[in-house]
Amino acid sequence: MVARVEASERDAFALRGTLVTPLADGGTLFAEDGLVVVGRDGAIRYAGPTRGARHRGPIEDLRPALLTPGFVDVHTHFPQTRIIGCATGPLLDWLEGSVFPEEARFTRAAYAREVASEFTARLIAAGTTTVALFSSSSPRATDIAVQALDEAGLRAVVGLTWMDQNCPKALRISTDDAIAASRRALARWHGRNGGRLRFAVTPRFAISCSRPMLEAAGALAREHELLVQTHVAENEREGVATLEVHPYASSYLDVYARAGLLGPRTVLAHAIHLGARDWRQLADTGTTIAHCPDSNFFLGSGRMRLAPPTRLGVPVGLGSDVAAGRSFSLRRAMASAYDNALALGAPASPEALLRLATLGGATVLGCAQETGSLEAGKDADLVVVPRPRPARTLDAALAGLVFDTDAIEVSASYVRGRRIR
Ligand SMILES: [Zn+2]
Repeated sequence: MVARVEASERDAFALRGTLVTPLADGGTLFAEDGLVVVGRDGAIRYAGPTRGARHRGPIEDLRPALLTPGFVDVHTHFPQTRIIGCATGPLLDWLEGSVFPEEARFTRAAYAREVASEFTARLIAAGTTTVALFSSSSPRATDIAVQALDEAGLRAVVGLTWMDQNCPKALRISTDDAIAASRRALARWHGRNGGRLRFAVTPRFAISCSRPMLEAAGALAREHELLVQTHVAENEREGVATLEVHPYASSYLDVYARAGLLGPRTVLAHAIHLGARDWRQLADTGTTIAHCPDSNFFLGSGRMRLAPPTRLGVPVGLGSDVAAGRSFSLRRAMASAYDNALALGAPASPEALLRLATLGGATVLGCAQETGSLEAGKDADLVVVPRPRPARTLDAALAGLVFDTDAIEVSASYVRGRRIR
């Protein structure tokens, strides 16, 4: 009786369902009848089989639903929410024809506000609890996105998109203005809510940034120990154009290396057209990768190989890359990553893909201590995925999670133990 009172005072709630989570030390925990106990501080007290759990308080029984970590989307674009499906690729034509005109609309605060609420709603419905995103080059639109993410309760890394050349005038921002706006963002909201919201230095990609701008981005990131996010080696024509714009560099990656932009706090999206020496350089600098397979298919950009980063220990997370990616759902991104790996003749297991979409992403974004797996002591960032029948085995649970995605929405979602859906 005493234990019961202590437990119910200490524990905010407990969810019972089929538990599937990668573990920080390797492997995957599966419990057909699993329990996640969450404390009032929003941290996980227990995650494991219901049998043997010491929890005595009330339990919400959600079986046969799956309990799994909230997804970590390491690469997406907030101002592209409304242009999903615009098939005007490949990359450079798509930017010109679909992306830049849409991103230019975000100088209007009312428009940014409307889209920000769509964006957060779609992320949450898809089961994403942590997101790293590019805003537009409008500081105001970026603040609006941050406010929406904050109110929605999401964990987010947000970047004002820097670009000072090779894009429409309306989207250009000078290096000085980009730095000033970034410093204002740092002062206003970086680190807010115990680090739930973070600012990232975000030069769009090498073509649209001058060398001084890239160097300033590197310096600002170092000064404040900030995450850096940008794109690399997405498309072959882009690679050629990059070296025309930056003729001093020996490779696409070298443009970023010379600007001081490589390192363990840097996330490079795509990484398709890279050679052995590039991968070695990524490993040597600890630079991390956002794998965006659905986007790569949609724009015909090519296929990223998972073998080099796996062999060299380069951290990889999964990105939806909306709007080149056609879905906010990392479940769909996992399925695309599976197809991508299969097409390369190097299959990836659903178990490995779940790790990429959760703990792998958290590692890339530097928040694996807090999120990415359901383990005691971590924040309770988790989602409830409805299933029509019980999953008796890990394989069955993964089949439902990764491939059976007609019904894509999660039925509940929590960040730090707070229900956000
Ligand atoms: Zn992107």
